[in-house]
Amino acid sequence: MSSPILRFAPSPNGHLHLGHAFSALFTWRAATTLSGMALLRIEDIDSLRCKPEFDVTIREDLAWLGLVWPEPVMRQSARLAAYRDAAARLGDLLYPCTCTRAEIAARAIATDPDGAPLYDGHCLHHPRRDRMPQYRLRMDEAIAQAGVLEVAELPVNGIDLEPSHPRSREASPARWGDAVIVRKDTPTSYHLSVVVDDAAQGVTHVTRGMDLHAATDLHVLLHKLLGLPSPIYAHHQLIRDGDALKLSKSKGSPSLKSLRESGWSAQRVLAQLGF
Ligand code: GLU
Ligand code: ZN
Repeated sequence: MSSPILRFAPSPNGHLHLGHAFSALFTWRAATTLSGMALLRIEDIDSLRCKPEFDVTIREDLAWLGLVWPEPVMRQSARLAAYRDAAARLGDLLYPCTCTRAEIAARAIATDPDGAPLYDGHCLHHPRRDRMPQYRLRMDEAIAQAGVLEVAELPVNGIDLEPSHPRSREASPARWGDAVIVRKDTPTSYHLSVVVDDAAQGVTHVTRGMDLHAATDLHVLLHKLLGLPSPIYAHHQLIRDGDALKLSKSKGSPSLKSLRESGWSAQRVLAQLGF
């Protein structure tokens, strides 16, 4: 069997925080546990929010933590042709949707696993051509075509994954409804890019936070539809600060850059996160 490949895939839309540091350290540690290799991938499809300066700081932060990765680093903004190709392979499983957020919210009677209003399939029955569309997956047809979907997972215990205890569960992507696969502003979406790129990079193990656990069900569906292999998944706990708030860019928690500049050592960050 070829050597395990893992990845850390940050979006350069802000500075990294302790939660990102945990995810990166977890991934590098898991690569060591599995005798594999960790790659860095820059997920910068969102051209409005992603900035080159954040990209630079991400690399400085990771190097400061002692994490090294092979070059060149994959950047999603350079891979739009691969995403267009994948979307084309989904063919009639995609349909154009011209609804605004407000229209979707006004009609929704349920939410998706991220808490966003669940799309009601409106444009399947009421197509219109006067607006720029996004493209959604016909979830019912996609599930019928894909058949039974399994997610292979490794249990996680704190900072460690347990490679000798793989388990398998059935995926339930239906909860996402007719998910957006191709956005209006870019010829892809997070979900499409992540499955195309994990396959392109030969990623065997996806390590990431529990906040993406439900997304995995949609990802294994896309693997099946696109004829791509599904990696093994391990979802780690989310790091919470003293107020039990998720340490995210939006909650005003300190960035790694600001910790570094205020004199924290990398060892202190590692110790703080339990490594
Ligand atoms: N780019 C995503 C993020 O920063 C992570 C994607 C993934 O690990 O699948 O949240
Ligand atoms: Zn619509």
